[in-house]
Amino acid sequence: MSKPIVRFAPSPTGHIHIGNTRVALLNALFARREGGTFILRFDDTDLVRSKQEYADSIETDLKWLGIAPDIVLRQSERFDLYDAAAEQLKDVGRLYPCYETPEELEFRRKRQLARGLPPIYDRAALKLTDEERATLESEGRKPHWRFRLDHTNVAWNDLVRGEAHVDCGSLSDPVLVREDGTYLYTLPSVVDDIDLKITHVIRGEDHVTNTAVQIQIFEALGTAIPTFAHHSLLITASGEGLSKRLGHLSVKGLRDAGLEPQAVASLAVLVGSAEAVRPVADLNELAKLIDFSHISRAPAKFDESELEHLNARLIHEMPYEIVRERLVALDADLGEAFWNAVRGNLTKVRDVAEWAKVVRGPVTPVIEDRAFIDAAAEVLPDGPWDTTTWKAWTEAVKTKTGVKGKALFMPLRLALTGLDHGPELGNLLPLVGPERAKARLSGQMA
Ligand code: GLU
Repeated sequence: MSKPIVRFAPSPTGHIHIGNTRVALLNALFARREGGTFILRFDDTDLVRSKQEYADSIETDLKWLGIAPDIVLRQSERFDLYDAAAEQLKDVGRLYPCYETPEELEFRRKRQLARGLPPIYDRAALKLTDEERATLESEGRKPHWRFRLDHTNVAWNDLVRGEAHVDCGSLSDPVLVREDGTYLYTLPSVVDDIDLKITHVIRGEDHVTNTAVQIQIFEALGTAIPTFAHHSLLITASGEGLSKRLGHLSVKGLRDAGLEPQAVASLAVLVGSAEAVRPVADLNELAKLIDFSHISRAPAKFDESELEHLNARLIHEMPYEIVRERLVALDADLGEAFWNAVRGNLTKVRDVAEWAKVVRGPVTPVIEDRAFIDAAAEVLPDGPWDTTTWKAWTEAVKTKTGVKGKALFMPLRLALTGLDHGPELGNLLPLVGPERAKARLSGQMA
C-alpha cells in the first residue's frame, strides 16, 4: 500500500466530543501506523456558525490526545478551488440552477407524499428554458445549484462495511451551492479530497449516503475515488447519540474531569471493535489494534463509568517518570516510593493530593480505643524506617496486646491517617516517618 493520506474534518461550530475523537484517532493512528499523513481540515464554509475559538479548542483537544496533524487547513481559505470545480460541473451539465423557494419545495414534497410518491426533488428546474430562467432572474430570484445524480446504484468496497451500495435513484439531486453562493459541505469536501490526494476517507456511518453522492462527484470531476471506511458511531448506555449538547462528554469536559487522554483514546478506538476495551497507555500500541474490518456495524454503546475504570487502571500502572511533572504541579511530588505506594488507590491523578496530605500532614488522628493505641505506640520501632517496619511493628503489637487482624490494623490506620481506607501502610508508614507517626498516635494533629 502506498502511504495513506487521511483527514479529520470537523466543523468548528462547537467543542468536539468523545465520538469525534473516535474518527480523529482512527484517522490519525492509521496514518501513524502506516507512515502516512494526517491532515486536520476545518470545514468552516459556514462563516456564520464557524468560530475561531472552536477551531482553537479542537487543536487543543487533539494535542491533549497526543495527535499532531501534519497539515492544518481551512476550507474558508479555499473558495477559489470550489468555484473552479463548480464551474467544471456546470460545464458538463451536472450542476444546474434551481429557483424554487423553500415554501414551493415544501408544497411539492407534501403533494408527492399525498400521492404516495417518494418526496424527492422532481427536477422541474432542469426543464426550464433559457427564457424562463431569465424571467425568474428578472423577478429577483437567485438560483441555488443542484448536482444532477445519475440514477444508478453506487457501490463501493467499504473497509468497515464490506460491499456497500446506495440507490441514487431514491435520492433528491443534492444542493451543492446555496442561493447566496455559499457551499454546502458536499462539494468542498470532494474538491479537497482530490486536491490533497486523500487515499482513505475514514468517517462515521452517518455519511454513507453522502458517500454515494460524493463518488458521483469524484467521477464527474474525472478523478480517482478514495477508499472509504465508515465506522459505527458511539451511543451512550441509554442509547442516546452524542451531540455537542452533551457537554460533559466533550473532550474539554473529560479533560476538566481529570481523565487521562489515553483512557479517552482507548475507549474511543476500541469500543465496538473486536478488541476488548482496555487501557492502552501508548498510542502506537493502540494504533496496532485498529482493524477496520473488525469494527462492528451496530452503534457502539459505551457507559461513561467505563472511562473512570479505564482511567484508574491506567494510573495503577503509570510509571513515576511519566507522571512526575504533574505531581510537581500538584505539589504532591514526594518521590517514586510515594507514587508507587499510592497510585493503586487513585482514579484520577489529581486525587494524589489527598495522599500527599496523609504523608506530610496535617492529619487529624481518629482514636477510639486510647489504651490500645498507647500500647501500640510503646512498641513503635525506632527509625530509620523502611517497608519492613510496619510488619515488625504490628507483630510486636499483636504479641503485646493479643489483638490481630482487622481489629489491629484498622485502629492503627485511623490513628495514623485519619481515614479508614488507603494504600498499604507498609508502604506509607516509612513515608510518614517516626516523628509524625508518634505525634498522631498520641492524638496530636500532625
Ligand atoms: N465536516 C464533516 C463532519 O464533521 C466531515 C465529514 C467527512 O469526513 O467528510 O461530519
